[in-house]
Amino acid sequence: VRKFFIGGNWKMNGSVAQVKSLVEGLNGVDIPSSTDVVVAPPFIYVDRVRTHLKREIGVAAQNSYVKASGAYTGEISPEQLKDLDIDWVILGHSERREYFTESDDFVGEKTAHALAAGVSVIACVGEKLEEREAGTTAQVVTRQLKGVADKIKDWTNVVVAYEPVWAIGTGKVATPDQAEEVHVTLRKWLADNVSKEVADATRIIYGGSVNAGNAADLATKPNIDGFLVGGASLKVPDFSTIIHSRL
Ligand code: 13P
Repeated sequence: VRKFFIGGNWKMNGSVAQVKSLVEGLNGVDIPSSTDVVVAPPFIYVDRVRTHLKREIGVAAQNSYVKASGAYTGEISPEQLKDLDIDWVILGHSERREYFTESDDFVGEKTAHALAAGVSVIACVGEKLEEREAGTTAQVVTRQLKGVADKIKDWTNVVVAYEPVWAIGTGKVATPDQAEEVHVTLRKWLADNVSKEVADATRIIYGGSVNAGNAADLATKPNIDGFLVGGASLKVPDFSTIIHSRL
């Protein structure tokens, strides 16, 4: 049985004051032992969040590079994340693919490097609206997943996040059936191309306009193992409701 997983992606949001209030709020949320909870602040806040946030909640970065150190101005390595006790990283988010032109191959490379450094990975895939409308959703998400699969062997420390681009920040959440269909596609791809064991054990979470009102319904689906939450993760009561959406 796969442990429920809730990620909060703060994206490029927050200030010292807002981060302090989010951490204080999160420290007051009961974290069920049946659920992994991880929040991803912007790089400049990860250290203070890890220092002040209770240990039942994990901390993730929103990106990391493919080298341990060196002349790579502006980049952060997974080794450096590890140094600050940051155990997770989100890789391949559609915003990075779109605005920073990250390829499937590069995302796979970053995933391999992070895992080798001992940092667990939330690897994101998801189709754009025009791809869905063209009927190529399965093709797109499995191509993106293959980018990761080509570079790694051990999936123990990987969570796959399915985030349809048309649902991100739009208020247009995928229906439980729409999400479940893609999660089944991804799991079957893992079974056919990696192994049945990896397919059964790997958490596949959904992201895209998840909120306090729609999470419980999505969480009833057998292949939806949790959520990657953007906007609603910046509101502690809403995020808390999502954390408790499958109990
Ligand atoms: P929203 O929940 O704001 O739609 O963002 C989803 C997301 O991109 C999480 O990574």
